[in-house]
Amino acid sequence: MRQSHLFTKTRREAPADEVAKNAQFLIRGGFVHKEMAGVYSFLPLGLRVLEKVCGIIRKEMKTLGAEEIFFSSLQNRVLWQTTDRWDDERVDNWFKTKMKSGTEVGLGFTHEEPITAMLKTHLHSFRDLPLSLFQIQTKFRNETRAKSGIMRCREFLMKDLYSFSRTLPEHEAFYEKVKGAYRNIFDAVGIGGETFLTFAAGGTFSKYSHEFQTVTEAGEDTIHLCEKCRVAVNEEILHEQKTCPVCGTATLTPKRAVEVGNIFSLGTRFAEALRLTYRDEGGKEAFPIMGSYGLGLARLIGAVVEIHSDSAGIIWPRNVSPFEVHLISVDGGKEEVRGVAEELYRSLSERGVSVLFDDRDARAGEKFADADLIGIPYRAVVSERSLKEGGIELKERGREHIVLVPKSDIPTFTFA
Ligand code: ATP
Ligand code: MG
Repeated sequence: MRQSHLFTKTRREAPADEVAKNAQFLIRGGFVHKEMAGVYSFLPLGLRVLEKVCGIIRKEMKTLGAEEIFFSSLQNRVLWQTTDRWDDERVDNWFKTKMKSGTEVGLGFTHEEPITAMLKTHLHSFRDLPLSLFQIQTKFRNETRAKSGIMRCREFLMKDLYSFSRTLPEHEAFYEKVKGAYRNIFDAVGIGGETFLTFAAGGTFSKYSHEFQTVTEAGEDTIHLCEKCRVAVNEEILHEQKTCPVCGTATLTPKRAVEVGNIFSLGTRFAEALRLTYRDEGGKEAFPIMGSYGLGLARLIGAVVEIHSDSAGIIWPRNVSPFEVHLISVDGGKEEVRGVAEELYRSLSERGVSVLFDDRDARAGEKFADADLIGIPYRAVVSERSLKEGGIELKERGREHIVLVPKSDIPTFTFA
């Protein structure tokens, strides 16, 4: 894509009320637009990142065998009263509104209830199980605090996955597979090394639930990390779990972290409340065992930016970068230089390399500063100097080292 056609412009300053680094860079780079506190819209560059993340998540969900759905945001009050999650005393972050008739409706903050209720129409026999459904869908939460940029929004995309199993071992096997899928997702987006399986309060059904916590100073949580096992305990359960749940050591290191994902065993709580049953092999009515697995997309992207950035801007990991290469023409109006840049843009595009081509009539310094802010992993510069030296300058974002790719190598050059 030609940068001259990109309607978004980089900005020197983020809004004064924006304190989080992730949102500052994403706004300044033209990835997102801040509508109001905790509410962000995605612009072309941000949408490209979002689509990459969606692709990574979808691949892992499909590998788990989960089918994709897309549920409504508007929620039926009666349904949520049945599970005792409607009252504001029980759930403190509902956004609620009214139909013209006066009937109250809610904007979904999660989807256990509607998915369980829907299955009453589609689940009949043990042969229909196990079953898992996922969606990438907008959630609404009336959060008190919204100081973490896109990591804590009042409206945000969540990947939510729900599993229904016949037996505890069947449920547990799926739960373990989800842990693996989450690991793959965090590795793919470039935060695997900073993200730890964290033991958290489990509710009534299981001793623990599990969070995936990414260590960053920008996080709102504190986890206690076992450096040896690479697992952590959430601060909230530290009074009942003072040692590493894996090796038993009491040497745990406190770290600031953000919860990027959460997986939960729900047992039969929702199935019982909403009377979702199936006929088991003996013909008896039984409740399926449920699991719920969340992952916030904006939060994930925010965590990536917090970890992969420097004072000049973002340093996107390859898999989530909006483009693979930022090609910069420093031609100062010189046709020969411009011609080489145009040729390179064409040949890279033909080879399927996604390129943001800075073809703007702007100063070199401005182009380089924008490239650092936007954070595409490879920067290729065509300039009078580089051509004199026989080729193009190639630099990785976040590294100082510049290599000269000879002109003759350009047609076949690959970004290893
Ligand atoms: P937190 O304790 O940070 O509020 P939570 O326990 O409310 O998180 P869940 O209800 O488990 O979060 O939601 C599943 C996932 O959705 C979280 O792991 C996180 O990635 C994401 N998420 C939750 N709240 C927000 C929010 N306000 N903005 C963006 N993402 C969110
Ligand atoms: Mg919350």
